[in-house]
Amino acid sequence: MPGRGHPPKDKSKKMFSEYAKKPGWIEVICGSMFSGKTEELIRRLKRAKFANQRVEIFKPGIDTRYSAEEVVSHDATAIMSTPVDSSASILLLSGDVDVVGIDEAQFFDDGIVDVCRQLASSGIRVIVAGLDMDYLGKPFGPMPALMAVAEYVDKVHAICVRCGDPALHSHRLSASDRLVELGEKDIYEPLCRHCFNKCMENSD
Ligand SMILES: [Zn+2]
Repeated sequence: MPGRGHPPKDKSKKMFSEYAKKPGWIEVICGSMFSGKTEELIRRLKRAKFANQRVEIFKPGIDTRYSAEEVVSHDATAIMSTPVDSSASILLLSGDVDVVGIDEAQFFDDGIVDVCRQLASSGIRVIVAGLDMDYLGKPFGPMPALMAVAEYVDKVHAICVRCGDPALHSHRLSASDRLVELGEKDIYEPLCRHCFNKCMENSD
């Protein structure tokens, strides 16, 4: 019998923890454009670096908006990164690290899912940021699968430029229908579900 004032010993509860004690898991940060995904990725990576953890950051070679060697967010908080042409390169370049950051993950090939799993299984903390939906509101590339296999998923929101509600859509203002188009405020605007639906109805 447990003594007075001591909680009863319950092994199943004692073993349970909300957060993993063993290293190696996947975190996904997703949302629309202007939702602060990259800023959140950078915040987590900078904290890891400050704790003297070895950090490696990758982004798809296609994203050359500002710089070939930096993960650059819209507010110019930058962190050095390595552009890679395929997900397989990430495995080759991730030897001897504690944390791997991946930005703009929606542009990677489907192999990125298995790469993240392998990294996590080998004890690496993997933090993935990416657009969860394309400009039409469809799940974007490997993001749905990454969210499915991740331990932790955070969806961050922009603010709808038309009504001020939380925005989850990246509405494209240009006439081009190319899926892979990178751009800034003059091309995309964050919209909430209802304002996005209105735009889609009007464009039919
Ligand atoms: Zn709105």
